[in-house]
Amino acid sequence: MTPRPIEKPDRARIKTLLTKNKINRRVSRLAARISRDYAGKKLTVVSVLKGGVVFFADLIRRLEVDCSVDFISLSSYDGKSSSGKVTLLSDLKESPKGKHVLIVEDIVDSGRTLKYILKSLARKGALSVRTCVLLDKVSARKTPVRVDYRGFTVPDRYVIGYGLDYNEHYRGLPHIAVIED
Ligand code: 5GP
Repeated sequence: MTPRPIEKPDRARIKTLLTKNKINRRVSRLAARISRDYAGKKLTVVSVLKGGVVFFADLIRRLEVDCSVDFISLSSYDGKSSSGKVTLLSDLKESPKGKHVLIVEDIVDSGRTLKYILKSLARKGALSVRTCVLLDKVSARKTPVRVDYRGFTVPDRYVIGYGLDYNEHYRGLPHIAVIED
């Protein structure tokens, strides 16, 4: 049976949580810190698709270190709720063995997705692995996971915009927003 499409939330219900300017300033600060920490090293920056792609694109353009990029795609959400199970949809194209890897993620919620990636990279012999997360729902954590570079701590609400979707809607919003019930 074809699943019933989940309605696109009305614009009137969308409220800004973080403005475009606030995000820009924070991304620049994160990029400056990362550039300092990796000065003189070659870095592999991994974007977690799809939600992290806007943050990733803004971040790498501000990095002052030599970096290559790779992509990984996982799924743990079904509509607006976490399924609790992480599925690998598409793995890295290059081996992380012997490389300094920075994982760039849009948001950490339960922590399961990031933990899955960290374990996988350690198993594959990465030289070092750090995490850079734009949004951290600290109060929703189900499993402890290390966040090395954090943009903002956000409340345990479903957020959209700046790459984050609601059933593939609103990824292109330039700011981060919540949907009012
Ligand atoms: P975790 O495994 O930490 O529970 O969830 C991480 C993934 O779930 C994120 O990469 C993101 O794709 C999705 N996610 C978690 N919270 C939100 C949210 O508030 N909004 C959106 N759009 N995605 C979320």
